[in-house]
Amino acid sequence: MTPTNDELFARAQAAIPGGVNSPVRAFRSVGGTPRFLVSARGPYVTDAEGREYVDLVAGWGPAILGHADPRVIGAVTDAAARGLSFGSSTPAETELAELVEQRIGPVERLRLVSTGTEATMSAIRLARGFTGRDVLVKFAGHYHGHSDGLLAEAGSGLATFALPGSAGVPADIAALTLVLPYNDLDAVRAAFAEHGDRIAAVIVEAAAANMGVVPPLPGFNRELIELAHANGSLVISDEVLTGFRVSAAGWWGLESTTEYAYTPDLMTFGKVIGGGMPVAALGGRADVMEQLAPLGPVYQAGTLSGNPVAVAAGIATLRAADASVYDALDRTAATVSDAVSAALSAEGVAHAVQRAGSLFSFVFGDDVASGVTDYAGVQRQEAFRYAPFFHAMLDAGVSLPPSVFEAWFVTAAHDDTAIGRIVDALPAAARAAASA
Ligand code: PMP
Repeated sequence: MTPTNDELFARAQAAIPGGVNSPVRAFRSVGGTPRFLVSARGPYVTDAEGREYVDLVAGWGPAILGHADPRVIGAVTDAAARGLSFGSSTPAETELAELVEQRIGPVERLRLVSTGTEATMSAIRLARGFTGRDVLVKFAGHYHGHSDGLLAEAGSGLATFALPGSAGVPADIAALTLVLPYNDLDAVRAAFAEHGDRIAAVIVEAAAANMGVVPPLPGFNRELIELAHANGSLVISDEVLTGFRVSAAGWWGLESTTEYAYTPDLMTFGKVIGGGMPVAALGGRADVMEQLAPLGPVYQAGTLSGNPVAVAAGIATLRAADASVYDALDRTAATVSDAVSAALSAEGVAHAVQRAGSLFSFVFGDDVASGVTDYAGVQRQEAFRYAPFFHAMLDAGVSLPPSVFEAWFVTAAHDDTAIGRIVDALPAAARAAASA
């Protein structure tokens, strides 16, 4: 007999902490049993009980083409047949770097790593090595992976140094991070006024999407960079989530054609750049990037960096993602977010749609019905309305991110059938949210 999700979760919990290899998968914020997935194709995922769901998680972002796209699977299969890992340079790594550099002007050099956490951790070390300074500025509600200095929580008041955001993070390391409210240039000015000559870098999500979606206010990225540069600091624009998803050139690409065009010193990528395999990257100004070993004094390395099978998936994904893919992502995002919003309105659930390109999420409650611009705003919402909404959708065969503080991810494979299944599930889910 095939085991149930409940049985699989019980077994997993005896072998793996919490039964999961990354915490959000445990359904802690929505309750219930996580689905154990066994396959995925196009816009669908299938669990161990044989149940199919329309998927709006997309592997947390990478699957822009849909799951198991034949072009990507073909490239991976071909690469795997030639050997899994060489620990030596391959022509494909240069090809991937060139693909990124052609699309994204500020990326003059690119180094491949395996996870977004490694990319941001290495970019911060590089910024510190380049500037000879120690302090890092980040924004409340932004996620950049789980390295020590980035798991820092705002202390009380503006421009105070942070407290550890996790057990195991030394207070002395957290104290090198300043946590500021997002979209608040006055807070940035105050931080530079007080600590400017100690600040190595500001790290910022190009458009925030790890507290739900909170786009930057017009001109925020540009002015942030001007302020940093006026103080001799670098800016690391983190596009691990937005890169190659919101446009072929990520969030940078969306703003590059506007009066708010900006040029970060360093950028980080993950998710789509690996097409579902472990590839991430840091890139940027040649003079900064060439401080990395072996050219410069900033050490960074990886046994699996530029892994040939993973890189093959990334190249195939980026090559397949043409304008029609981005049109489809935009269209589906608009259709799905409009349908969710209409269903919530029909049940009298006050809410706002938060959007950044094809990324979107919802905040619930009268207090936030005109939208939010920072983490304090996100936290003001009636978050309790999400769990019943999520479970009603799951029961109807639609898999949403298992937390209200996550973006929803569409794929170019979400066709009318898949979208129809989402739309059909919405009235009952909106009723559940209304009666929460
Ligand atoms: N930066 C951002 C903006 C992210 O969204 C994430 C992951 N969600 C990371 C960094 C960390 O990437 P990884 O999970 O691959 O370590």
